[in-house]
Amino acid sequence: MALRHPKGPGPHRRDVPVEAVFTREMGRAPTYQLPSEEISPEVAYQIVHDELMLDGNARLNLATFVTTYMDPLADRLMAETFDKNMIDKDEYPQTAAMEMRCVNMLSNLFNAPDPKAAVGCSTTGSSEAAMLGGLALKRRWQKRRKAEGKPFDNPNLVTGINVQVCWDKFANYWDVEMRLVPMEGERYHLSPEEAVKLCDENTIGVVVVMGSTFDGSYEDVKKTSELLDDLQERTGLDIPIHVDGASGGFVAPFLDPGLEWDFRVPRVQSINVSGHKYGLVYPGVGWALWRDAEALPEDLIFWVNYLGDNMPTFALNFSRPGSQVVAQYYVFLRLGVEGYERVQGYARKVAMYTSAAIAKMGPFELLTKGDELPVFAFKLKDDVENFTVFDVSAALRERGWQVPAYTFPKNREDLAALRIVVRRGFTLDVADMLLDDLRKKVRILEKLKAPVYDRDPGGFHH
Ligand SMILES: *Cc1c(COP(=O)(O)O)cnc(C)c1O
Repeated sequence: MALRHPKGPGPHRRDVPVEAVFTREMGRAPTYQLPSEEISPEVAYQIVHDELMLDGNARLNLATFVTTYMDPLADRLMAETFDKNMIDKDEYPQTAAMEMRCVNMLSNLFNAPDPKAAVGCSTTGSSEAAMLGGLALKRRWQKRRKAEGKPFDNPNLVTGINVQVCWDKFANYWDVEMRLVPMEGERYHLSPEEAVKLCDENTIGVVVVMGSTFDGSYEDVKKTSELLDDLQERTGLDIPIHVDGASGGFVAPFLDPGLEWDFRVPRVQSINVSGHKYGLVYPGVGWALWRDAEALPEDLIFWVNYLGDNMPTFALNFSRPGSQVVAQYYVFLRLGVEGYERVQGYARKVAMYTSAAIAKMGPFELLTKGDELPVFAFKLKDDVENFTVFDVSAALRERGWQVPAYTFPKNREDLAALRIVVRRGFTLDVADMLLDDLRKKVRILEKLKAPVYDRDPGGFHH
């Protein structure tokens, strides 16, 4: 065996062609076919990197709820764990242990009756967690109906019309009828009274959203539960609540500890929360939690081998990256309750500061001010006719800010608004830069004779 001298390259090394970036004609990005030939990693990297320059700047994306800043040590930990597969509990028992600890911590945070018997799992995000929560509701309802000898083929789920699209997906994929409570006047989310009116013997549950994506407002879990108690007294129907706490699950426990929205409300059977939103981890990680073992039917659980032990899993995927779960555990360990309070408290402060400044600007009117989720929506005053919220959104885009404008659903299709999501990394300084730009753009827009865009030119999705 020939060993190469450590002091220098072997003689054949000189023959290796070096494709220097930008000193020769670059390849073109392929569109429809796998390229026939190999290229150097440097050139491939540059092509991909350069194309991505045209994507928006994530930190200026005020549309997303998803984390766009993590500290450099989190980046390092994630890079160190890209190769771990969450499903391989046997091979990566410590990653599995960290997942379990996160579930315990969340169970505790959400006031489960016995956090030591925590029931829950990590997911790719709130969408998967919502599917799992919805499936558990559906299965429980079916079992009860079967046991009673009643039909079990026509389930429905009651929510506000403002629910996130993952619930439409759930209903579509699993053949559940969606019963949507429309908006009315200045009520932009679920009305507990109207929700209960839509419930019947085929209702598998009511979804209450802690933090509506439309305007950042909390829905009233406790009131919904009380009205469902009344319904049970009157009719015998026992309808559970699932809380979609995608964003609020990581805000309310820290900033509104007295608010009872979680397992303190006995009717709440399950909760989903996005680790990658106010959980402060890059996408994609979410969590699904059940109040106790009874809330999650055994027959939905699969068992995988875990160091000779059997480990339960409930998931839509099989393989999945372990790095996000590791990062979640890191953030829990790093920040603790105190750190989360500080980060979310600052976000709420910046949200309220920004909304107050926007309200003072003249043409705008707030729908919410960011005192629940650090998120607020605002519209143009009714007498502004020469430009629209879509013009405002497009004007801000010229400076790189992404502030979505969108119309509301039934019965407020007449309402179009802008929304700003304040997250970790959106500081008072950055807010001032946004406000300066908005003031300048408004001065220009005020000179318009007629709107340029009367609807969303890009297509914004919640
Ligand atoms: C973001 C969001 C979802 C979907 O969550 P992902 O984590 O993006 O899958 C569901 N519900 C609400 C209320 C949300 O804000």
